[in-house]
Amino acid sequence: MLRVGLHTSAMPTLNRAQLFELSVRVLRGAGASEVEAACVAAELRDANLVGHDSHGVMRLVQYMQMVQDGHVQLGSRFEILKEGPAFALADAHFNFGQVAATQALDIALRKVKAAGTATVFVRNCNHIGRLGSYTDRAARQGCVGMMSVNSPAGGGVAPYGGIDRKLGTNPICIAAPIGNESLVLDMTTSATAEGKLRVSHQKGEQIAPGLLIDHEGRPSTDPADFYRDPPGAILPLGGDMAHKGYGLSVMIDVVCGIVSGSGIARADLPRGANGVWLYLIDIEHFISRDEYDHWMAKYVPFLRSSRTLPGVSEILLPGEIEVRRQKQRDADGVKLPDETWRQIQETAARLGVVVSDLATP
Ligand code: NAD
Repeated sequence: MLRVGLHTSAMPTLNRAQLFELSVRVLRGAGASEVEAACVAAELRDANLVGHDSHGVMRLVQYMQMVQDGHVQLGSRFEILKEGPAFALADAHFNFGQVAATQALDIALRKVKAAGTATVFVRNCNHIGRLGSYTDRAARQGCVGMMSVNSPAGGGVAPYGGIDRKLGTNPICIAAPIGNESLVLDMTTSATAEGKLRVSHQKGEQIAPGLLIDHEGRPSTDPADFYRDPPGAILPLGGDMAHKGYGLSVMIDVVCGIVSGSGIARADLPRGANGVWLYLIDIEHFISRDEYDHWMAKYVPFLRSSRTLPGVSEILLPGEIEVRRQKQRDADGVKLPDETWRQIQETAARLGVVVSDLATP
């Protein structure tokens, strides 16, 4: 018999189909259309499968809160405000970010094949999830795909030399084809993604040094310091050279926030909102695919032939770890921390949705 409500178990495990079904049920329960629920659910599932639990089904709790608070406007249209042969500016009117980013990618892919490059900005957009998912699709269609987002509401990251939260984790992502697959660099410009702190917090684990300061600017390894009142802040990427991560983050705010029209330092948005910049290059407008493949075939063994440091068995390419994790998680399923599963079930129960049948204890 199916049950609604709380249920405790040791590290529940969900397979690919269960992860998707979980999100679809919750999103449909909140009123999302079938198409939009499927789009968001696929992005959350894929983030879990490649190992970024910070951007997986854990986000359902936050997204449902955003629906309840009116920050997600279900079913709102994706409006093109301006466009030319190689660019578009869109307003997502605060539908789910994954829905908007998918539409932005479709437009960019259409334009890039005709124009050689395509730039799409999206304003009034919610959290789009894992950037590498979109750029990977572009790379598999023969493009270099670049994407960045800022957090127009500011975020949890201190500026270089500062203590207070001023910046988002402002990720940057670049993907390029390699054979029939892709290389995907997908990284925050902060020392850690906020969602990774949340995962550690929910598991009751400490984090590595150098990622976080408490509200007085003291180094911390306790993720709870980020969620306390007054809260601590994540440091910019780069350790002793964090002026570089900070600089990248500021410039992402300028491009993704200001040029997109999303804004920065806004008090009227939740931290999860994104200003989106997508930039595609169709390789064959510049060099032949044969020439590209020739250099890539030479480059990869060249990189991998480096001697390795003690404890390192091989040189990996950007995005390779995610491909390996996906193979493993496709086979073994994804284990969710008990606290994450408890929160998801609580959220589902509030919507009158049954999900307890979807996890294997
Ligand atoms: P990460 O630190 O796990 O990985 C960063 C990059 O390093 C990846 O490209 C990965 O393939 C590569 N990498 C990892 N280990 C490697 C190794 N041993 N050798 C070579 N390369 C290696 O990622 P992150 O910075 O924590 O970001 C996590 C996710 O969070 C990303 O998918 C990002 O898009 C997402 N994110 C989204 C938002 C948003 O607002 N939508 C904000 C921040 C982050």
